[in-house]
Order: sequence, then C-alpha cells, then structure tokens
Amino acid sequence: MYWERVSEEIYLFTSDRYALVNSLAIVTREGIVAIDGLPFPDEAKQIARFLEIRVGKGFHSYILTHHHMDHVYGLFAFPDGVDVLGHELCRRKLLEVGEASLNEARQSDPAFEEVRLRIPNVTFDSGELVLHVDNKTFRLLSLPGHTDDNIGILMEEEEILIAGDAVMAIPIIADGDWEREIETLRYIKKLAPETIVQGHGEVILRGEVQAVMDRYIAYLECVHKKARAMLRQNRDRKELWNIPLEDCGLERVPLGIASHRLHVANIMSVYDKLKTG
Ligand SMILES: [Zn+2]
Repeated sequence: MYWERVSEEIYLFTSDRYALVNSLAIVTREGIVAIDGLPFPDEAKQIARFLEIRVGKGFHSYILTHHHMDHVYGLFAFPDGVDVLGHELCRRKLLEVGEASLNEARQSDPAFEEVRLRIPNVTFDSGELVLHVDNKTFRLLSLPGHTDDNIGILMEEEEILIAGDAVMAIPIIADGDWEREIETLRYIKKLAPETIVQGHGEVILRGEVQAVMDRYIAYLECVHKKARAMLRQNRDRKELWNIPLEDCGLERVPLGIASHRLHVANIMSVYDKLKTG
C-alpha cells in the first residue's frame, strides 16, 4: 500500500496488491470522512493506524462508491457506530450477496476471516444525496455503468470528483452496462471537475480530465466494435483473447498484469450480450 495527499485535507491510499484500488480519507474539523476501504485486512488496518497516529480524529462518516469487495471490505478496520452512506442498490446488493461472496473470499484466503461487512444505512436511489461536513459539501451522484449502484462523490468547493469505478484506468463494464458507462463518462465531461480520483489507478489532474474521458469513451466504443466484428465473422469466443488492449487505445501499464484479462472480460460481456440479442 502507498499513500499520497491530493490536497492538504485529502489522503489517498492505493493498494499495491489489488489492481491499484483507491481509498480516501478526508479530514475535517468534524471528523474524517472515509470513502471506500482497501480489500486486504492488513492494508486496511495500516490505514486505520496511520490515521489514528497522523490525524488523531474520530470518523464522521463512511461512504461506499459501490458494492464490489475491493472497495467494501476495508471499512471493517475503522470504528463501529458511524453512518455508512451509499446508493440504495449498493445496500440491497450487499444484503443479497455480500455474505456469500465474503465466505468465498475467506475460503480462498483465510486473511479475510476478520472482515465484517459494513452495509449502507443512509441511502438514496434517485437524485442526489448531499452531505455537509464542516465547510465541505459532498454531493453523492449516481454514476451507473460499471455497476448499477456506482456513485461518485463531488467535493464541491474543491471541484474534485471521487468517481468510484465509473472512472478507472481501464474502464470495466463486464459486471455492468456498456452504454450506461459511456453516458456516465459523457456526463462527467459536462460536470468538468478539476480533478478526478479514479476507483483504480492514478489521479487525473487538472487539464487532463476532458482528454482522459475521451480516451475512455473511445476505448469502450472500440470494445463494442471489436465484439460486433468478431460476432459477424462468426469467430469463436476464445479468439477474443487475441485482441490486445493497445488496439483500443489504452496501455497495460496502469493496471499491470490484470489488464489484459479485464480487457478481454469487457469484450466477452459485450459479445455475449450481442449474441443473445
Ligand atoms: Zn468495481
């Protein structure tokens, strides 16, 4: 795990063990607002300890960007009795499948034994949820596509969008919806934040936002085009493994060894949907 500061009050923690997933702690005079947690208990506990020593403040609230385990598990390392905010669909999804998938994770790695799920108790399903803490406004917005329940958190005064997996170094739609994800990326372009914290990968800085969103949209359009072409040519599903990520304008570096697998999963999901009509 490594960490950096996005601003004086915003700490960003990045896992070096799981696809560069990000977690944030925003320090206010009313306590810390934590957004997502890193999946592995040792990393999550390191963050809790770091904040205790360095910041020495209690927590104001936790926010979950979506229900995927790599964002949810780490919150267990923070204190109980704090509100968890998220989309209503995130709450439902965790109630439905959270425990079962946690048990699966425990079977493959006993380190997950100590993880306890934190399920949102303050939710919204349409419109927005606005949280005022100290002098900060956190605007929770629905940003579906990667999953139905994905939200972004716009820190209004700072013009920082914490996007969850709506924005990641390789857009992933295998568990979501290709078209909605493109709509979401277009919406983010219009929102035009100064800075975007991606769910996975490096921070997108001032001046890069528009170009990076365009690259991600072009990537997803390419994924669709490749899937459609393979289907038209009656090519077998396993041949999708031969389509390099670079053919769709992205490189593997930002997400490392998982990149090709994630990219192929994207094409396969579109291929399967087109096939079944
Ligand atoms: Zn995700």
